[in-house]
Amino acid sequence: ATPMSVMVGVGRGAREGVLIRDAEALETMEKVDTVVVDKTGTLTEGRPAVTTVITAGGLSEDDALRYAAAVERSSEHPLAAAVVSAAQDSELAIPAASGFSSEAGGGVSATVEGRQVRVGSADYVVASQDDGASRDGGGIRERVEALRAKGATVVLLSLDDSLVAALAISDPVKETSARAVAELRGQGLHVVMLTGDNRTTAQAVADQLGIDEVHAEVRPEDKHEAVTRLMDQGRRVAMAGDGVNDAPALAAATVGLAMGTGTDVAMQSAGITLPSGDLNGIVRARALSRATMRNIH
Ligand code: ADP
Ligand code: MG
Repeated sequence: ATPMSVMVGVGRGAREGVLIRDAEALETMEKVDTVVVDKTGTLTEGRPAVTTVITAGGLSEDDALRYAAAVERSSEHPLAAAVVSAAQDSELAIPAASGFSSEAGGGVSATVEGRQVRVGSADYVVASQDDGASRDGGGIRERVEALRAKGATVVLLSLDDSLVAALAISDPVKETSARAVAELRGQGLHVVMLTGDNRTTAQAVADQLGIDEVHAEVRPEDKHEAVTRLMDQGRRVAMAGDGVNDAPALAAATVGLAMGTGTDVAMQSAGITLPSGDLNGIVRARALSRATMRNIH
């Protein structure tokens, strides 16, 4: 493309909600054959809320929320904000926590009222138990699977290494996501979801949207590897994401697209920003790329 037509393309993009930071992204966008999308905050609204609390072993729902919120108060994860808001909405007094620690893509733990509390994924919470299965008080696990099959993210809560509760947290899919995925697939693109969330939850959301391929339970540090592996297979990959965890993958992709509703780090790592966080911007970016490369405005 001539410098002039790139300038025209960048200008037209700005008016159409496609902010181009890197001219090369504009040039290569039309050649992309695979679109990798992060789930939370990219396909979904990224404003999760607690919808269900399941407990076992006589723990009340309020106590489950109090313990979980006490630990999550020290976390910056979007799921943590959902838990703390739920406790506040129920007007619960959130106790103090000490010895907080967290594991990216796993969960959080701390001591609350003399008890060791862990909140997070099954791997994170149950890995701490010597015999998780026998301590699963009231068949929490089956109920958790049912909630996940509906697309909810479920985090587990253990007290002193006994699984005592699960919190279902739902994060609705953006209303624009389904059309964007359908359009991209209609153009013959392969759409892949990449998420740290549980496999069942991820597949439920993918099924709602008609996504071709799902990579779930991906550790934050492995997202970028998932993208480079696709590229090693000869794919030309556009990656769309919003989080700090997505930044390396955005930088590694053929073209990175950051949601303007997400983190600054993601935007700094991507060639294109979609200010409104609408994935249909990927479709517009491709049209723009085509026009720019053929010099037709
Ligand atoms: P995503 O790719 O969806 O942004 P993350 O990699 O941040 O996901 O987290 C993956 C999983 O780790 C979450 O679905 C959750 O089970 C668990 N997790 C991570 N951080 C927390 C936290 N602060 N509280 C509870 N669970 C957490
Ligand atoms: Mg995200």
